[in-house]
Amino acid sequence: MNQQQIHDFFALNHTRPKKQLGQNFLVNPEALKIILEAGELSDADTVIEIGAGLGCLTDVVTQHAKHVIAIEVDELLHNVLVSQFLTNPRVQLLNADILKLELNSLLLDGPGTVPTTFKVIANLPYSITTPILWKLLGHHKQIHSCVLMMQKEVAERIVAGPGGKDYGALTIGVDYYAEATLIATLSPENFYPAPKVDSALLKLTMREKPKVAVEDEELFFKVVRTAFRTRRKMLKNALVRGRFTPDEVLATAFEELGIAPQRRAETLDITEFADLANFLYRH
Ligand code: SAH
Repeated sequence: MNQQQIHDFFALNHTRPKKQLGQNFLVNPEALKIILEAGELSDADTVIEIGAGLGCLTDVVTQHAKHVIAIEVDELLHNVLVSQFLTNPRVQLLNADILKLELNSLLLDGPGTVPTTFKVIANLPYSITTPILWKLLGHHKQIHSCVLMMQKEVAERIVAGPGGKDYGALTIGVDYYAEATLIATLSPENFYPAPKVDSALLKLTMREKPKVAVEDEELFFKVVRTAFRTRRKMLKNALVRGRFTPDEVLATAFEELGIAPQRRAETLDITEFADLANFLYRH
């Protein structure tokens, strides 16, 4: 649909695109092409689309995949999708909230046959990008890759290197499970209504094994989150505040690992975080 058609659709239904659901529809066919190419789909792939909206992306994805599961929380839009794809056996439509959806049953059962992995494609509702990302990372074993449109600043945080203000728990969480590539940045005019922020398309390719060997993932993420919670503090103070380890163990860890306790969280790379967490796990 182009801008006019989207406008008319909502006018006809006496409503407007819902800001709180991040309804900014893609109106530039070039953008659809970029997403599709980044997906590197084959006709063996099962794709999960999050926030299918009015189906423009669903439509092109369907032409290049074996099966598409299109998830849309808004009932009005879901109904549009139903009439649009009613006769297409390759499309499965779910009127559901991605954050509440039990992904396991979907991923484990698969549609009919059992696919080994899924590809995720989405022009995300921007305000819930982070929880969606953590949810997808939690299913890293069943997902091959994700091509995700998000707010540019969030994408920049994900691909950031150590040392800057963008680098944080999200950077490390994603890097642990996936290889992140910034595919393109897109200006607001690619969408209708135009969002107030710039957008970026990011590809996450899940790693076969996490990037670093971690003995206790829960503890690893706890160390990372605690360290970044007070990211401007010295590491020793930040972690002591987390109170999950005695001070003297922490002091020994810094010494044995050669990590200066005066350093701040944002200067540690993922390997150093893993070393720290593994040390604390063993002591
Ligand atoms: N794919 C479409 C629409 C993208 S806008 C396009 O590119 O044009 C984001 C879409 O996500 C909207 O349709 C919105 O209704 C939907 N959405 C918002 N929150 C959601 C949630 N929690 N679960 C599933 N879909 C959601």
